[in-house]
Amino acid sequence: MNMSFNLNTLLRDNIKNLVPYSSARDEFKGEASVLLDANENAFGSPLAQHYNRYPDPLQHQVKHKLSTIKGVPVENIFLGNGSDEAIDILYRAFCRPQVDNVILVPPTYGMYEVSANINDVPVRKVNLTADYELDMENIAEAIDINTKMIFICSPNNPTGNSINRKDIETILTYFPGIVVIDEAYINYSRHKSFTQELAEYPNLVILQTLSKAWGLAALRLGMAFASKEIIDIFNKIKPPYNINQATQELVLEALNGVDIVNEWIKEAVAERDKLASHLEKFEQVYHITPSDANFILVKLQEPRALYTYLVSKGIIVRDRSKVELCEGCLRITVGTPEENKNLIAALQQFYN
Ligand SMILES: *Cc1c(COP(=O)(O)O)cnc(C)c1O
Repeated sequence: MNMSFNLNTLLRDNIKNLVPYSSARDEFKGEASVLLDANENAFGSPLAQHYNRYPDPLQHQVKHKLSTIKGVPVENIFLGNGSDEAIDILYRAFCRPQVDNVILVPPTYGMYEVSANINDVPVRKVNLTADYELDMENIAEAIDINTKMIFICSPNNPTGNSINRKDIETILTYFPGIVVIDEAYINYSRHKSFTQELAEYPNLVILQTLSKAWGLAALRLGMAFASKEIIDIFNKIKPPYNINQATQELVLEALNGVDIVNEWIKEAVAERDKLASHLEKFEQVYHITPSDANFILVKLQEPRALYTYLVSKGIIVRDRSKVELCEGCLRITVGTPEENKNLIAALQQFYN
């Protein structure tokens, strides 16, 4: 794996040659008082607010604000209908069905594999090591001429740990395909984002989302940060109006709330560490993976029975006990102080 990165040879021919859809709002972008170009209903919407006009296909206002917050130029930002849209577009851009392959490093976020399956792209799995780090030797071994992407989730879901930065940098340097770093939980991490390394690595794609720390899961806004060349490919493939007007308006407003979001992050991290120290005291709790996210992976006695017991108490956690390398584990999202107290109380009842 010492060939150099070449975006043009990585890209599928059908995408290279694609003439993208040109929408009414692509063809006319200025100010006008009479818009008769998009077959919209000129009379209005049956709502207090008007949604009768198509939204900005490239979400300029939202991107400008995000650019300031993230310290990433607008031309290096793509917005998708959740991170899932960005993941799907990556497969469609770079992977020829049944021919090209991707490297996944389980246990990790399930969507990378589902999206591969939908796109009929073979997956090569290289398990993380016992301490949930990259198995560099076996990754190198698994890469061949048709390997187009590797997905690394850091902090990783469902284990919660950040992946060793030096290892990620080694892959960015030597792997000639696309390296996707999913930073959905970066706001909770002690480690810094890769967003300031875009100029360094032309093969880097970073995924982030407003669904977690920003508290906007229902609005569906995922971000991809990459070189301008890669962002242009995203924009060529995406549906013309992939981010709806209501989401664009609400996100623009929500992005003024950096201060409260940072407060919540501090609180969630403090609650996470408190929860972990409470859990440690149970002799039935065998291991807690040190977490850089807003959840903890806990290996404990009778995980399935505990899961069912918690459900009966109205408390839902994620049962990961049958997942390879997560045997016996539940994944617990950090809740409010009250919710976390209820969880601990229920555990006390179950184990006594
Ligand atoms: C929650 C999560 C996401 C977010 O997905 P959205 O589609 O943006 O809501 C992405 N990656 C990982 C690893 C996640 O856990």
